[in-house]
Amino acid sequence: MAYVIGDECISCGACAAECPVEAISEGDGKYVIDADTCIECGACAGTCPVEAPKAE
Ligand code: SF4
Ligand code: SF4
Repeated sequence: MAYVIGDECISCGACAAECPVEAISEGDGKYVIDADTCIECGACAGTCPVEAPKAE
């Protein structure tokens, strides 16, 4: 279980700055979350302007 960033992502980088465990990095066309590092705190979802991170 982890948060996953959907295609709505506009690569603004806001979520990566908020993640307490640095699980988010810039990927190809959108930001991506490392599922093994994510602790499901929800900070990325709360920060994202387009609600791209979702709990899976
Ligand atoms: Fe980082 Fe929390 Fe988002 Fe997981 S849910 S990627 S730990 S900000
Ligand atoms: Fe993408 Fe949202 Fe993260 Fe910005 S805050 S990089 S739009 S997932």
